[in-house]
Amino acid sequence: MDLLQASVNDKYLALARTVRHYLMTRWLETERRQTELQSKAVAYLSAEFLLGRQLDNSLLATDLEEIAAESLQGLGIELDELRTVEVEPGLGNGGLGRLAACFIDSLATLDVPSIGYGIRYEYGIFKQTFVDGRQVEQPDNWLELGSPWEFPHPEAAVTVNFGGHTEKTADDDGREVSRWVPGWSVEGVPYNYMVPGYQNGRVNTLRLWSARATKAFDLQIFNAGDYTEAVRAQTFAENISKVLYPEDSTPQGKELRLQQQYFFVACSLRNFIEDVLPAGYDLHKLPERITFQLNDTHPVIAIPELMRILIDERGWNWDEAWDVTNQVFAYTCHTLLPEALEVWPTSLLEKLLPRHLEIIYRINKDFLARVRETYPGDEMRARHMSIIAESPERAVRMAYLATVTGSKVNGVAALHSQLLRDKVLKDFSDMEPEKFTNVTNGVTPRRFVRLANPGLSGLITEAIGDGWVTDLDRLSELEPLADDSGFLSRFREVKAANKARFADVMEARDGIRVDTGTMVDAMVKRLHEYKRQMLKVLHIVSLYEQVKSGALPIEKVTPRTFVFGAKAAPGYRMAKEIIALINAVGRTVNDDPAMQGRLTIVFPPNYNVTLAEKLIPAADLSEQISVAGKEASGTGNMKFALNGALTIGTDDGANVEIRELVGDENFFLFGMSEPEVERVVSAGYEPASFYDKNAALRRALDLIASGAFSDGRRGEFEPIVANLLEQDRFLVLADFQSYMDAQARVDTAYADQDAWTRSAVLNVARTGFFSSDRSMRDYLDRIWHAEPVSIDVSSMQG
Ligand SMILES: *Cc1c(COP(=O)(O)O)cnc(C)c1O
Repeated sequence: MDLLQASVNDKYLALARTVRHYLMTRWLETERRQTELQSKAVAYLSAEFLLGRQLDNSLLATDLEEIAAESLQGLGIELDELRTVEVEPGLGNGGLGRLAACFIDSLATLDVPSIGYGIRYEYGIFKQTFVDGRQVEQPDNWLELGSPWEFPHPEAAVTVNFGGHTEKTADDDGREVSRWVPGWSVEGVPYNYMVPGYQNGRVNTLRLWSARATKAFDLQIFNAGDYTEAVRAQTFAENISKVLYPEDSTPQGKELRLQQQYFFVACSLRNFIEDVLPAGYDLHKLPERITFQLNDTHPVIAIPELMRILIDERGWNWDEAWDVTNQVFAYTCHTLLPEALEVWPTSLLEKLLPRHLEIIYRINKDFLARVRETYPGDEMRARHMSIIAESPERAVRMAYLATVTGSKVNGVAALHSQLLRDKVLKDFSDMEPEKFTNVTNGVTPRRFVRLANPGLSGLITEAIGDGWVTDLDRLSELEPLADDSGFLSRFREVKAANKARFADVMEARDGIRVDTGTMVDAMVKRLHEYKRQMLKVLHIVSLYEQVKSGALPIEKVTPRTFVFGAKAAPGYRMAKEIIALINAVGRTVNDDPAMQGRLTIVFPPNYNVTLAEKLIPAADLSEQISVAGKEASGTGNMKFALNGALTIGTDDGANVEIRELVGDENFFLFGMSEPEVERVVSAGYEPASFYDKNAALRRALDLIASGAFSDGRRGEFEPIVANLLEQDRFLVLADFQSYMDAQARVDTAYADQDAWTRSAVLNVARTGFFSSDRSMRDYLDRIWHAEPVSIDVSSMQG
């Protein structure tokens, strides 16, 4: 094609293919080396991988950015323009999916043989738009223009069975055996993605599965002469990997979701056992070759699947199979919310995976026997610990199945792991304390510092060299520079430039104006009541009310731009109401001349990884304000601290560790601690008493109820106000005053820009711990026990 006729997308594709070609040699070498050494690997099983754009990351990993930019310039093409046409693969909801993406990046960079297994959703997380301030979801057709980053392998497709029934027969020795007679099947086609390490020659694989109808199934129906029925079967099969479920931390228990879960783990186990391991490999030695890390309960159905393979297909006895299965799985729990713990009705399992249900019953029977042996006569305990819940309907508790089976169970921040042991999984931890461990989450410094914040990266590298990119603890070498006025002013210039860049992005993306002279105060994460976006809204409404009523002179208000980014699950009513309220408050406050632009609210729709990369480096203040004891870890909090934002936060999740590391004087702590929350709740929390006692809070809530933000329509936000006054499950009103006081401390601190910048530098210098490289080392030490294998790049051509 002629360059003159080429579209920007054509040029992007051409560049992507060039980088991809360069990585290919390394990919093949990585695989050759693994075949040669047969060393232990890690399989990360995750229903979500929220990857973000690939071009930038690939250019960084290959160190080709400069060469690419120069060659393109010679052709009159701007690299920056090509970057922006890439549609990010949004194959995840939020933190959990992004964590999986950070982990596989770190594993590749640490030279660990590993493979990510997941689902190639045809439609990722929905595209969020606002119509009259209300969220409207649009399908995310990310494959519309094709993706240069995926490699389909239809020749390696595997078959996955569903449905049918089981039959009891006797084996040669007269023992009863169960045989699964499946009712239908689909095929899984692997799509491979390259996961390049940072300039180390290793390219690991992310293998995502796409569903299609089996040939046999097709043919059967064709032969019956029913063409339309055959085509319908095609659609039916393809539905399995059609769309990502947009619920974040509230599982819906839908049949198709269980199909997705079983589909991808069945494909993955079969792929690992039959294609990755050498032919004829003795599966008794499986633990020497792999740990399957279960990212939350979504892949837990892999446990009975492996048991089934070993017993039904390989003819092993139960104990042998159980011994191996125990050793190869480990489970990461990601929540503390009871409603987020996944359960599958036995009726659904019976229909979809009857053999697996039998296996689960047997696992439970053996387990309960162990419980009764350990705690004779304690029938209540046995009932509590049963993998099978009896009410409200008979259902399998997937977290319990994973805990009982896994070699290890980990939480994702120190406080979270402690609460798992003391509360959510207490009985299990009492029985097998050594099974429980913590691995605090992390984020990849390649994407979230080096790529997202080139200005800061350049400054750091100038000061301490570039070793920090793969050894983030070295950021501590910046510590002395916190007292170097020259360094502080350059740090401030970087922040200012990042704000200007963010303002440009907002203008181009949404036509939103951002005043770069204001404090950028950011709350970006999924919309959930426990995360308490409402508390942020009440802060803003209270400031607005105080200015309007004359209690607060406008000159005393620190100019702030409040940035929100948040998608709500489409079926989560209250979350969607809160989105509407944020937009309504934004419209009113932004349009009010009395505000003189001092308080501005911006809520760009469709918060995703690409936007995070632009916003986070521009932020001054990071809002991490969940009610204590509900946020497992958070990773947004880490991204902000590493980019020199100060945190206002509760003692929750990894905030606890951030505060310990940066020091109390560089962190704005507020709110009740987890034990205090417990006490208030068990004493019978009455939110209305806070409304009665606190005039500022009362005025803010009254203003919302008065219709001031809804053109006088008083009923508009009634459900939100009523919910806060009557229930307030997440103690927004109880923490309101403490939050307002902390925000006043933020204003005071921000007024001294030198001191603020010093704190910002110390946040960067002291948070190297939150590299996902460190998380991976912890998993390797505590759970996986796999070793790095280096790839020799000396003989490789470009
Ligand atoms: C990091 C990240 C998250 C997680 O944010 P939390 O504040 O930890 O909930 C969610 N979405 C995107 C796009 C992210 O990059």
